[in-house]
Amino acid sequence: MEIIEHLHHIETRIRQACITAGRDPGSVRLLLATKTVTPENIKIALQAGQSLIGENKVQEIKEKYEALLSTPHEKHFIGHLQTNKIKDILKYGVSCVQSVDRSDLAEKLHQRLLQEQRTMDVLIQVNTSQEESKFGVAPGEAIELVKQVAKLDTLRIKGLMTIGLFSTDTVAVRNCFRLLKKIQQDIIVLQLPNVEMKELSMGMSNDLETAIAEGATIVRVGTAIFGKRQYPDSYYWNESKPVI
Ligand SMILES: *Cc1c(COP(=O)(O)O)cnc(C)c1O
Repeated sequence: MEIIEHLHHIETRIRQACITAGRDPGSVRLLLATKTVTPENIKIALQAGQSLIGENKVQEIKEKYEALLSTPHEKHFIGHLQTNKIKDILKYGVSCVQSVDRSDLAEKLHQRLLQEQRTMDVLIQVNTSQEESKFGVAPGEAIELVKQVAKLDTLRIKGLMTIGLFSTDTVAVRNCFRLLKKIQQDIIVLQLPNVEMKELSMGMSNDLETAIAEGATIVRVGTAIFGKRQYPDSYYWNESKPVI
């Protein structure tokens, strides 16, 4: 089965990257980026020993929910979250929102969690590539956002997330990951209450080795496991509609 072979290949790449970086291979977790992937194919990967998926669209989470109920897994949200979809995020079993990038989103998430008497793990998404088209708080505003989110006691900040520059310029890509690590270090020094900075979610199919070398604890991989997607990523990373 192709998916399983691809999965083994990714596991090998992660292990090798850890060894090269002098890191414990157990210190990096693989998140399956499952946008557009059918529940059947997601199940193949989960049954092969994977445990974490990430979705970009609330609609897709809803559509796959029933089919995945009987297969144990953890689910993170890694896409742009509109405040009117917060209710659904809570209803459909998301355990961490990796894409908190503005205070009004954090505030509304908090209000809803208060009503439901629950908590939620979150990562703060930083736009390290500074491209207009990508979501995420500007690097210079990340610490201020972390401070604001830290005041909301239903939200548990676990770390930071970024999408690196899409480029063959490996130096430029590496600089994105370095910047995220630098922001993490700057935040750790502040010792803010209610802020854990353990997780760095960075690195995808094409750049996971670089991300691991720079300290990633979660790599998010889609294409290299499930194959090419039909929609351009811009459909998921900004508000523009795909050209079909
Ligand atoms: C699609 C996606 C990924 C995975 O990208 P691939 O290049 O397919 O591995 C990772 N992170 C986010 C936020 C994504 O939307």
